Amino acid sequence: IVSRMGRTLYDPDELVKKCKGKPTMSITMVQNAGKQIGAIPRPTPAPTSLPDPGDTPLDFEQEQPPQQPDVNDIQRNDTEKSYSSGISGPGSDFAPPTLQELGLKPATTPHRGGETIALRMLDSIIANEDYTATFEKPKTAPTAFEPQATTLLSPHLHFGSVGVREFYWRVQDVVSAYGRHASQPPTSLTGQLLFRDMYFGAQAALGYSFAQTYNNSHARFIPWHLPSHISPDTRLITGGYAIDSSNAERWFQRWKHGRTGFPWIDALMRQLRLEGWIHHLGRHAVASFLTRGGCYIDWERGAEVFEEWLIDHETASNAGNWQWLACVAFYSMFYRVYSPVAFPQKWDKDGDFVRRYVPELKEYPVRYIYEPWKAPLADQRKAGCLVKGEECGTEGEYTTYPRPMFDFAERREVCLKAMKNAYKVGLYGNDPRVLDGSWRKLFDDAAEGPTEGEGGLPGAMIEGDRTEDVGQRGDGEGDDTKNSEVGTGDIGKRGLKRERGQATLDGLVTRKRVKK
Ligand code: FAD
Repeated sequence: IVSRMGRTLYDPDELVKKCKGKPTMSITMVQNAGKQIGAIPRPTPAPTSLPDPGDTPLDFEQEQPPQQPDVNDIQRNDTEKSYSSGISGPGSDFAPPTLQELGLKPATTPHRGGETIALRMLDSIIANEDYTATFEKPKTAPTAFEPQATTLLSPHLHFGSVGVREFYWRVQDVVSAYGRHASQPPTSLTGQLLFRDMYFGAQAALGYSFAQTYNNSHARFIPWHLPSHISPDTRLITGGYAIDSSNAERWFQRWKHGRTGFPWIDALMRQLRLEGWIHHLGRHAVASFLTRGGCYIDWERGAEVFEEWLIDHETASNAGNWQWLACVAFYSMFYRVYSPVAFPQKWDKDGDFVRRYVPELKEYPVRYIYEPWKAPLADQRKAGCLVKGEECGTEGEYTTYPRPMFDFAERREVCLKAMKNAYKVGLYGNDPRVLDGSWRKLFDDAAEGPTEGEGGLPGAMIEGDRTEDVGQRGDGEGDDTKNSEVGTGDIGKRGLKRERGQATLDGLVTRKRVKK
């Protein structure tokens, strides 16, 4: 076996070396390091023939790997049958097992995998020279669907059904031929691939701590609600979290399940759950809303939901982009907050995107599509959907859609004040006061987040100090029980994929020079 680096444009370890051991925190760092490394190699052509492997007797026992922990158990509705009839698989044809044979529920996403499809998608992008050469990410609409405004190649890059250098060079050749009107990094298509390399480079330098704030030298510490539990042994987040505020936990669940009462946010979260992909600016909107621009909830909670539902989930890109959006690393303009009303209006006045993913609002008049709670009752009835409560349901002949879970303008101000304060305190994830929990002394009792000065939980983020559930969760809107209860969120299987996603073959394979 000959192993070659091919997951990114540049070898992340080489990028870090050229940056003198520093994580790549900007695209310029990647470009400068890239210049020192040299030209991005063109992909190796596919072999035209394969050597005869000789006799390959299949006279060994098939060994089924351990079934626990089962990272897919929420998606499993039957038993796994792919090991049921020997090494040639359930159909005795060596074909990859189907979802049914794996005991998994049918896919809800319309997006499909495989190299044939990926290369067809790439061909059709490249055939459109104007699109390829003048692509500018900020001008692509997050509300576009069928077709979406960007390439949708991210799941293929993740799974390897298209090689990143194949993508890069096919685009670069069009750009070179196009001349001076072609767009340039960072907004161009090749610029997007450099962002991807940037996050891989940052992850390579920081290791496991890159996917969390705790012990991360480059992530600002912000005392968000629903902070992660940390294992004192590994110093890694465990997937569990402290419920320091029942409101925050309720907001988190409503955000996750597309029931915030803000149609733009709900449409995006439903698209994510159903289809496993949302446009980059859609990801911006929901990430900003959950963290610094609405709920003031730990970005690690959001990253875990993305980890579970994205079909393009990539630990480096996911953790890095969440840090960017939460303004803990890469980006710091926390006062630039996305409005769940004005921002989508800019792209989609009529609300077609909302009508598709929040079908209960399909008949709403244009002027209320992003603010249905403002529609007079007569209009709500006429549209067949009443805005009330916290759930989606029915009432008589009408469907119901929830009221907004908070006053956005009010929450925006609370978050801005809290961010300003946290920036002023100025801690990073590896500060000794973050590591030992004494950061609490630096935030006054009235600050947003799990802060009770010295009276609070000593280092509530440390797993061993966890207090068991106190009081009830998720009760009555408007009941501000901040700090009156500290419980624990589900630990579940979260974090497992992240842990594995961070591993590379590098740790498992000894690279040996081929003897000539
Ligand atoms: P295009 O715009 O067509 O870009 C081409 C390729 O460039 C993408 O396929 C992707 O591989 C890469 N790329 C583009 N933008 C970025 C970016 N900002 N960061 C890293 N790579 C980028 N991308 C993932 O691949 N996996 C993730 O888990 C992931 N999580 C994200 C979480 C948040 C909160 C945010 C804001 C962004 C995240 N992204 C992630 C980045 C980006 O949103 C997706 O890569 C992009 O939307 C994929 O769609 P596309 O293939 O049409 O992108």
